[in-house]
Amino acid sequence: MKTLADAFEHTLQDVYFAEHSITKALPKVIKAVSNTELKAALQDHLAETKGQIKILDRVFSAMGLEAQGEKCDAIEGLIKECDGVAAEATGKVAKNAALIGCCQAIEHYEISRYGTLREWAKALGNIEAHDLLSEILDQEKAANYKLTHLAVTEINKA
Ligand code: FE
Ligand code: ZN
Ligand code: FE
Repeated sequence: MKTLADAFEHTLQDVYFAEHSITKALPKVIKAVSNTELKAALQDHLAETKGQIKILDRVFSAMGLEAQGEKCDAIEGLIKECDGVAAEATGKVAKNAALIGCCQAIEHYEISRYGTLREWAKALGNIEAHDLLSEILDQEKAANYKLTHLAVTEINKA
């Protein structure tokens, strides 16, 4: 990695890998939680995540790059923790609350990555890529907000 363009390409490959990993991990979380609204919110975000992969394909092409992922240790760790909590939490209420926390850690990872990437795209003079990445960033922020709302309005109270 020598230039900002190299850093951008590496990080874009990271999030591409991350979104594919999330697509594989979310069905397990959806199965593990018992709150209906939480299940529905995660199901919606799974569909949204599949759309994000398509948006990322457009970002690669806007940058003149080939779409490909590169193993990201950070997302693997977050997903591993999520799997562990799903397997170890026995109480229903605790499991819902703990898994919301794990999912929000993943949303925060994504918010951080897309915030960085969109600003790098702008610095590199690619407004199309900036706008596409902003679209994903807004979806991640909304997903995180929805989980906070579910936690504080009902799951934590239960
Ligand atoms: Fe995502
Ligand atoms: Zn990484
Ligand atoms: Fe997300």
